Amino acid sequence: MADVDFVAIRQQFPILDQEIHGHPLVYLDSAATSQKPQCVIDAESEFYRTINAGVHRGAHELAARSTMAFEEARAKVARLVGANSEEGEEEIVVTAGATAGLNLLATAFGNASLGRGGKAAQRFALKPGDEIVVSKAEHHSVLLPFQELAYRTGATLKWFDLTEDGRIRSDTADQVITERTKVVAITHVGNTTGAITDIAPIVRRAHEVGAVFILDACQSVPHLKVDFHAMDVDFAAWSTHKMYGPTGVGFLYGKRELLEALPPANFGGSMVELAWMDKPAEYMAPPARFEAGTQPVAQVVAAGVAADWMRAIGMENIEAHEKAIAGELLKLGDIDGVRILGPRENVDRIGTVAFDVQGVHPHDVGQFIDSLGIAIRVGHHCAQPVHRHFGLYASNRASTGVYNSVEDAQALVEAVSKVRPFFK
Ligand code: PLP
Repeated sequence: MADVDFVAIRQQFPILDQEIHGHPLVYLDSAATSQKPQCVIDAESEFYRTINAGVHRGAHELAARSTMAFEEARAKVARLVGANSEEGEEEIVVTAGATAGLNLLATAFGNASLGRGGKAAQRFALKPGDEIVVSKAEHHSVLLPFQELAYRTGATLKWFDLTEDGRIRSDTADQVITERTKVVAITHVGNTTGAITDIAPIVRRAHEVGAVFILDACQSVPHLKVDFHAMDVDFAAWSTHKMYGPTGVGFLYGKRELLEALPPANFGGSMVELAWMDKPAEYMAPPARFEAGTQPVAQVVAAGVAADWMRAIGMENIEAHEKAIAGELLKLGDIDGVRILGPRENVDRIGTVAFDVQGVHPHDVGQFIDSLGIAIRVGHHCAQPVHRHFGLYASNRASTGVYNSVEDAQALVEAVSKVRPFFK
């Protein structure tokens, strides 16, 4: 790991400099949402103070500057994930977040199934007998849009099973994905297990049968170096609020030729070349075709700053830093009566560690931990099937960000060791 001063990095987050219930705040809930460095906070307010205007319209100077800032931000985000952002090769679509991006795809595939988008869109069309493949580890934002798509089109929903410790069974790709499979949507990193999916065999098999592969990159983009070109994924969706950027924004990566063929999902202003009363509209080329309505320009500009900020630290450095903290968090599994829901080894996983404390409800655990100034998540984390896999309805989840330290993890382990004795 290069010499990065992570203490100084932590100091860039003003929110962390406070006490909660008389204790210094330890924030271990970055899988839900990350905190924001000062440069991101400043970028958003600076935009409103100096160049606020709608993009791609208006002849005035502010509109031109706003458009330039918006497109520059798109390019910065593209560089973070190994995508193209040149004019005519644009592969990054602005969305309202991962959920919106995944719904955009499911809706667009549904539209293709109704014959919209012409011949080119037929590669996305589904009919009874076709298959959509997900996994039991999916966030509801993947499971539900594609389950609904299956209901709407008559396609069959299938899924990858998990290993005992919650990893997606990539080794079964040849059996789960068949000649009838049209869509495969899989998480890169489990939001409960923290397990990194071995996606290569799944992508290979999906392409072998001509299926489209969609990656839920929500929990990987903030923590790992990703390169969507190298991974050969067709689409990928994620949210900026988990990568040190603003809420309300996300991005959808798509291979250019696929975005060209995909019919729109949302309709309105700024996505149409020609609109008529008596005949169908002619839609714009991507990415504009998928960006109907006034865009969250200030947030996208700030997301671009977040992307550059992460690249400046270096994704390899972020990964190594959080891995050390994950190693400490995994010591939770050594506490009597505490079970980790995910891989116990600090290999092919990130610092998202869900755990169950035998005999104590997660909400009680969460409140006890909170009383010590430590923020973790409790509940099913919008992933009920993976909890059922572990025989539970809910759990506790600690998750790291770049601002955490090994000491933060140690504070949590110490706090959790007191939970069972306290509730006895
Ligand atoms: N996918 C995963 C793996 C997630 O962790 C989340 C957020 O928790 C989502 C999708 C949905 O993200 P958002 O709620 O920002 O749309």
